[in-house]
Amino acid sequence: MNLSTNLAAVVENIRRCALQAGRDPEEITLVAATKTQSDDTIRQAIAAGVTVCGENRVQELLAHWEAGAYAGAQVHFIGHLQTNKVKYLMGKVDLIHSVSSQKLLVEIDKQAGKAGLCQDILLEVNLAQEPSKSGFFLPEVWPAAQLAAQLPHVRLRGLMCIPPVAHDSSENLPFFHKMKALAVDIEGKMGDNKADPTILSMGMSNDYPAAIAAGATHIRLGTAIFGPRAPISTPS
Ligand SMILES: *Cc1c(COP(=O)(O)O)cnc(C)c1O
Repeated sequence: MNLSTNLAAVVENIRRCALQAGRDPEEITLVAATKTQSDDTIRQAIAAGVTVCGENRVQELLAHWEAGAYAGAQVHFIGHLQTNKVKYLMGKVDLIHSVSSQKLLVEIDKQAGKAGLCQDILLEVNLAQEPSKSGFFLPEVWPAAQLAAQLPHVRLRGLMCIPPVAHDSSENLPFFHKMKALAVDIEGKMGDNKADPTILSMGMSNDYPAAIAAGATHIRLGTAIFGPRAPISTPS
């Protein structure tokens, strides 16, 4: 596997998908999902043009952070987040994609307040109501958005989803369209607010062309850039 070749191919494909959908390729941010990758691989990815690293695990993130592996890139948190680990992320992550409960929202507000900052966040939506996944069910999204709007130290920037595993890129297209409709609805209802909830984080290696077609602004790719991962066994 050649990281810079993979990355160049992905970037070109993102451009093609965007143009095909009548969108400006600049609207789409590539988040490199760096879970299980080494400090060196992360540095290579950034040298090859990756501007945002997405981490799943707090411990991994902190280790890479200590090693300075993210220098030159933003760091986003994209994995399941436990409330007792929120404090470790403050000041280190530009965006938390995976806010999946009101309890977590309140904890982020509290810890961000302590750290003297305002944390950008997305609400994770469990659109297919899969029991194995975190995220707000559809009717819970607007109440969570309203709560976020009231908390002084969080800024709601949009929505994120992890749809069911797709076997080909178009399989999740209906989910992505529903997510886009939901995002438009929430953005409209928020009105004139401190928040600017225009981010829609959806699409992974096997389905990102459909996500771009439906309006994704952030796609999270691991395998397409780094090749297949070794299986993960330890919990976060
Ligand atoms: C691992 C991961 C990705 C990337 O998955 P690939 O299929 O390797 O592209 C995207 N989003 C989240 C939340 C992930 O955990």
